[in-house]
Amino acid sequence: MTPVEYARLQFSRLKMLIGGTWVDGGEGAFEEVLDPATSQPLGRLPHACAADLQCALAAAEEGYALWSRTPAIERRRVLMQTAALIRERQESIACMLTLEQGKPLAEARGEVAGSAEIFEWYAEETRRLYGRVIPARNNNSQQLVVQQPVGPVAAFTPWNFPALTPARKIAGALAAGCSCIIKPAEETPGTAIELARACVDAGLPAGVLNVVFGVPSEISEFLIRAPQIRKITFTGSIAVGKHLAALAAMHGLKRCTMELGGHAPVLVFDDAAVEKAAQACAAFKFRNAGQVCIAPSRFYVQRGAYERFLDAFTHAAADLRLGAGIDASTTMGPLANERRVAAMAGFVDDAAGRGGRVLAGGARADGPGFFWQPTVLAELPDDAKAMREETFGPVAPIARFDTLEEALQRANALSYGLAAYAFSASAATMMAVSAGLEAGMVGVNSFAVSLAEAPFGGIKESGYGSEGGTEGLGAYLVTKFVAQAAL
Ligand code: NAD
Repeated sequence: MTPVEYARLQFSRLKMLIGGTWVDGGEGAFEEVLDPATSQPLGRLPHACAADLQCALAAAEEGYALWSRTPAIERRRVLMQTAALIRERQESIACMLTLEQGKPLAEARGEVAGSAEIFEWYAEETRRLYGRVIPARNNNSQQLVVQQPVGPVAAFTPWNFPALTPARKIAGALAAGCSCIIKPAEETPGTAIELARACVDAGLPAGVLNVVFGVPSEISEFLIRAPQIRKITFTGSIAVGKHLAALAAMHGLKRCTMELGGHAPVLVFDDAAVEKAAQACAAFKFRNAGQVCIAPSRFYVQRGAYERFLDAFTHAAADLRLGAGIDASTTMGPLANERRVAAMAGFVDDAAGRGGRVLAGGARADGPGFFWQPTVLAELPDDAKAMREETFGPVAPIARFDTLEEALQRANALSYGLAAYAFSASAATMMAVSAGLEAGMVGVNSFAVSLAEAPFGGIKESGYGSEGGTEGLGAYLVTKFVAQAAL
């Protein structure tokens, strides 16, 4: 059986994982999972009913009692073995990812390998869960600071990175000693199921990781209200993040990590390597058809570099080969769903109404599936929709600026604060932008801001908390101070 055949077969047996058993929903509810390249069904995804969610909560509670007492060195072993299995199964998982999400297979392979790396990194970090000894005030006493797992976690992940985002949440929670109930995106369930299968096959005890699906608002409300859950981690839109954070506050003041939307500005200065910058910007903008929360997504180019940048960027966009991700010649796949196609039309219509120029693309691609052409827009005013709102798709607005102060002011003008980028050869400019850009992650002459070992997260309305790095592990820990004396 080829990896693609195997992947297709897996879609015919999608299940939830509850208490160590692969199950269908108790009430028989389900939804169809579509291939975004054809809009044809790939398989049926079971939905959890209230009784299934109660079982998952009970399992997570029991799983927590066991896993939080499991020595770090054993947790490390299970996470390392999970990573090894993900690597071994890379090709079939990547095929599932591409079929359900649409990105080119080469990108899917990279994402699966990146997910294995996240498990490895967190596995190693289990050995560095240090506390602190504070010099005691008396000879017969001790003052200790210890880190303990926060408790059972409810995790909610979106469809744009079906492997990487669940990997960050699952590996972080398990490394810290937490149990987890994850609700991956219903659009892209297969990849997360395969990650969970790798955990089970690696020897993770039953109940420590549970995977459920259903109507997102119903599942999240049920789990966030549940007294067993002590931590919420969500990746998705700002509106939903605010809603979940409010629920978490109301029902037990639960801790949250909120990784929400972004609309990353890119400042390209006259002294930058303009053509190289344009090519890198286009590559990162159109990666995953632009459905990346840290994608460079509004471009401000200094007057002297503007025409050269526009030209090189537009050429790079026009060179992309649109097609099904599973086809080896494809360099940009479809959007994940019909909603994104409608959203792209909204950005382009608004631009046209404001006198913007469409330099490339600008329309839906012919044929079945959710395809939108790589699109470049120029001469847009700052109040155009594409300049103000996260595009989350292959639409790139490019504008001109004159001074550094002006560029920083326009870059920081929105309520987003996830990623921001700049290109310049000047050390002074580099320091000014890295200090002045209001974002949780800043790349200067670089887009490498998403790494297993580095904190990933936003400020302002892009959310709070980090995933990755030592900060990412800290998100699943609580601090306890212990004062003990010999009487
Ligand atoms: P959406 O807000 O409806 O859904 C985004 C994700 O959140 C989906 O996976 C969905 O299942 C989940 N979700 C929605 N409501 C939920 C709820 N009440 N409880 C728990 N999970 C819930 O938006 P969409 O149309 O699917 O995607 C479009 C927007 O979502 C984008 O414009 C972008 O802002 C945002 N998004 C952000 C990221 C990210 O990485 N930060 C990823 C995907 C989508």
